[in-house]
Amino acid sequence: MPNKNSLHMTPEEFRRYGREVVDWIADYYQRLESLPVMSQVQPGQIRASLPAEPPLRGEAFAAILRDMDAIILPGITHWQSPNFFAFFPANTSGPSILGELLSAGLGVQGMLWATSPACTELETHILDWLADMMGMPVKFKSDGRGGGVIQDSASSASLCALLAARERATNFMSNQRGCDGRLVAYASTQTHSSIEKAVKIAGMGQQNLRLIEVDERFALRPDNLAEKIEQDRRSGLIPCFVCATLGTTSSNAIDPLPEIGQICRREGLWLHVDAAMIGSAAICPEYRYIHAGIEFADSYCFNPHKWMFTNFDCDCFYVGDRAVLINTLSVLPEYLRNQATESGAVIDYRDWQISLGRRFRSLKLWFVIRHYGVEGLRYHIRRHVELAQKFTRWVQDDHRFELAVLPPFNLVCFRHVGGEAINQQLLEQVNRSGRLYLTHTKLNDKYTLRFCVGQTHTEERHVRRAWQLIQGTAGELER
Ligand SMILES: *Cc1c(COP(=O)(O)O)cnc(C)c1O
Repeated sequence: MPNKNSLHMTPEEFRRYGREVVDWIADYYQRLESLPVMSQVQPGQIRASLPAEPPLRGEAFAAILRDMDAIILPGITHWQSPNFFAFFPANTSGPSILGELLSAGLGVQGMLWATSPACTELETHILDWLADMMGMPVKFKSDGRGGGVIQDSASSASLCALLAARERATNFMSNQRGCDGRLVAYASTQTHSSIEKAVKIAGMGQQNLRLIEVDERFALRPDNLAEKIEQDRRSGLIPCFVCATLGTTSSNAIDPLPEIGQICRREGLWLHVDAAMIGSAAICPEYRYIHAGIEFADSYCFNPHKWMFTNFDCDCFYVGDRAVLINTLSVLPEYLRNQATESGAVIDYRDWQISLGRRFRSLKLWFVIRHYGVEGLRYHIRRHVELAQKFTRWVQDDHRFELAVLPPFNLVCFRHVGGEAINQQLLEQVNRSGRLYLTHTKLNDKYTLRFCVGQTHTEERHVRRAWQLIQGTAGELER
């Protein structure tokens, strides 16, 4: 007999409300284009429309769903809008959303192989697929010495890489005794801030992070890297880790992996490659040149949650020698002991990441790859690059604007030639219009606008309208 007092949603109720939620999402995508991209609310406004106290008794589902429109939507910046060109994309897609829903439905916690074999084995398999799709060396595959794992973010992946580098350099003694204050890490001045954070978390000390100079295209200068390593060795320090970036955050610069890799090999340093956004481009054979020198890497990460139509969170992290990573991160309390682990025949992904628990993230990735197929993914990535290249030509054809750097992929860095003030006003006005969303950076100390094409539903008409709005607004400001 079902318990009449139960407050749980019945399967029949779930079916009904589930359909309503899916309808809500589908409707959202249909009207997304007409919504102001950047949320227009003031600080505190959303909280002010929420009740001060939680409900004592459960509420009707209809009332809860209604508040999605009434309370939540006004405070949403529409990352999935085709008019979103800010930061980097965090694109998603139908198959990804549905894969995510199924993952929530199963509610699996995949910390060990034994806690859901499918969660582990699908992940291993999909990451091997992806390694092949991107032309990665076999050492990064699970049937070699390495393998891939899904992390929540590139930040976590880079932290794991840094910890493994720290342990390899100190024969696993940092884990035992605490960090040796002489370890040094290297990254360019353009490297993502997550490396600085990782150095702090790993206990290496911010003063032991060397920021290497960049060339005129904002790529790391290998000569400067070699010099700094030598200086540090002379001072009795222990260089251990280099992060090279493919597609820097500010300008999409590509660090020269072949030269950096040679230095790392000669010096015995761990080379981590952060390809958070443009790693996805390597799915297209013509863009795979970004991976030249990848064989030197000890670890590599990229984010399908940026530019591969997969819901946040999903970072793919590869290592060339999984034993180092596992030795760095594994601990084995009695309550996690089990036969499968002891047999050595399985992967326990808890030893490949910071946290113990983990979600079934490979489902959404599997859905995405199967829905689009490799060719479908290539098609859409190429479309985005083409649109960014079109935008680039429009910038070049308007004498009032200049490019900050020639964009290799989907990020255009440009500015009005009239100086910082007009660019700031331009950014503020177009964003306030709600018709698009752009962000900025500084390159060589110059205020620079960033236009990044990568949203799932962005088409030529959106890019064209964005450029017209930018031109028109510039015209008004010039007067
Ligand atoms: C976006 C980005 C990151 C941070 O990614 P998270 O997954 O949010 O941690 C790191 N590095 C680069 C180059 C990025 O573009």
